[in-house]
Amino acid sequence: MKRENIEDKYKWDLTSIMESRQDWEKECSKVKKSFAQFEKYRGRLDDLDLTLELLKLTDLISQDVEEIYVYAYLLMYSDGSDSSYVSLAQRAEAITAGFNAATSFITPELTALSDDVLNEMISDERFANYRYTLESIIKEKKHILSDKEEFILARLGEVLGGFKDIFSKIDNVDFPHPVIKAGKKKIELTHGAYSKLLQSSDVKVRRKAFTTYYKLYEDRINTIASCYSNSIKKRNIICELRGYKSALSASMSNEDVPVEVYDKLIESVDNYLPKLHEYVEYRRDQLGGELHMYDMYVPLVPGAELGLDYEDAFKIVLKALAPLGNEYLYRLIKMHDTRRIDVYESDGKRSGAFSWGTYKHGSFVMLNHSKTTHDVFTIAHELGHAMHSEYSNEAQVYHNAGYSIFVAEVASTTNEVLLLKYLLSVTRDEDVKKFLLSYYLDMFRTTLFRQTMFSEFEEYVHGRQQKGYALTVDDMSKEYFKLNKKYYGKGVVHDKQIKYEWARIPHFYNAFYVYKYATGLVTAVTFANNILNGGDHQRELYFDKFLRAGGTKSPYEIILDAGVDLCSENPYNIALKEFGRALDELKKLG
Ligand SMILES: [Zn+2]
Repeated sequence: MKRENIEDKYKWDLTSIMESRQDWEKECSKVKKSFAQFEKYRGRLDDLDLTLELLKLTDLISQDVEEIYVYAYLLMYSDGSDSSYVSLAQRAEAITAGFNAATSFITPELTALSDDVLNEMISDERFANYRYTLESIIKEKKHILSDKEEFILARLGEVLGGFKDIFSKIDNVDFPHPVIKAGKKKIELTHGAYSKLLQSSDVKVRRKAFTTYYKLYEDRINTIASCYSNSIKKRNIICELRGYKSALSASMSNEDVPVEVYDKLIESVDNYLPKLHEYVEYRRDQLGGELHMYDMYVPLVPGAELGLDYEDAFKIVLKALAPLGNEYLYRLIKMHDTRRIDVYESDGKRSGAFSWGTYKHGSFVMLNHSKTTHDVFTIAHELGHAMHSEYSNEAQVYHNAGYSIFVAEVASTTNEVLLLKYLLSVTRDEDVKKFLLSYYLDMFRTTLFRQTMFSEFEEYVHGRQQKGYALTVDDMSKEYFKLNKKYYGKGVVHDKQIKYEWARIPHFYNAFYVYKYATGLVTAVTFANNILNGGDHQRELYFDKFLRAGGTKSPYEIILDAGVDLCSENPYNIALKEFGRALDELKKLG
């Protein structure tokens, strides 16, 4: 569809950020000039008054840069075929780079201050908004090396960061796209096509896609193994140089989350694997015959889609989120009515969905709504992100409004869980009910179990390398295969190709990132249960301590204050039992 043929009310109105392109131009020249103001603070951060002035100035100009950047990118995402939008985005990128360069001295100079000076700032009321930032600087300080060493590492930074780029080149640029026959159609086997082909109802298509796809990795396996093992080695060396016990403890420390959270996740999920095996066996029995790794994504209940158009889907989402209270619903309706949501697919528009915005002017949501059930969940999910930002922006100053990756998927997933529970409670049609339950089970399988398995693999390879062993293709593949067997159990045929799956996971180049998906789901399921069963008190905790908290303190503490202790086994048990219950219910439906 052409963008101009879509009704205005289903397209963003970005005038709340910038009245016009001329305003954007004016803003750009104003902001560019403002960068010169930072120079006078360089080398003078031992003066408290000057530092405070600098921090405030940085926040102010950062907000202006944000407006320029977000406006340009939202335009480009809405239509990337318009070259004038692409050029706006490129210019916004340059302005952001200019801002980063002009302010790049601040963190190193703050870090170089003595603990006494930093503590003086922390106890000074005028620095109240910067407390968490300053505390984090003190905490990570012992891992900062001498000026000269930091200089060398910084100079080598581009090279040391190269492994991810090399993998991306192998995986995206040099990767061939053989053609697969699916019925009468011929399909190019891109990464996107692969995941769709695995959902084909024809087992021959799934098998062909799987074997062809994995052959591509097997053909490059030595190169990929060398790239990945060197990236692990690099990470371990840097963590050792910086005085961390391990790469895992460095990652947890950087995220400011206790390592016990990670351990609790692994332990709890491991204890619950028999239930996952039971699900895999159920899947096998439902599909009939042998179950292979390539049968894991085919829908158990085909064709039970809700088929809702956007307006109806939005109404369902409102009903599902009613437990969050009227004020929350009112905000959602306002987003809908003030053209904050870009709804339909159109030529040149970016695929997928996201929520994004600015501190001053709030959130925008991008959808590509068709009529699948998944699209209804996407509405609930993205609105969850948008509301999390709205509440944090309102409650916190700019500096503390942004929240960390560790909590970023919680509000969105909480909404999805609320929607699922609502739909289950109102659905009478057994097929739809089965569809919903299997949707929920697969959410657990892919987000909780699978990402935890990835984390175990990451821990193994990092630990192995740290102990001085060479990470060979055989070693990594053997371990991966072992984990695959442990997680999925005896109900599935562990096709030999699956041992190479580690070779195709781009996230592994951000070590210890994926466990956050798992803890995010655990937290969300617990919040959703608290909201539904805990009365006003639990709901208020969710709003006051979580949605409004922004990034004021450690993400672990934010979740703890809102009533969920991720160091205890409680939330994991709640989430995993929920998985078990959903499976029992599905089985009962036959
Ligand atoms: Zn999300």
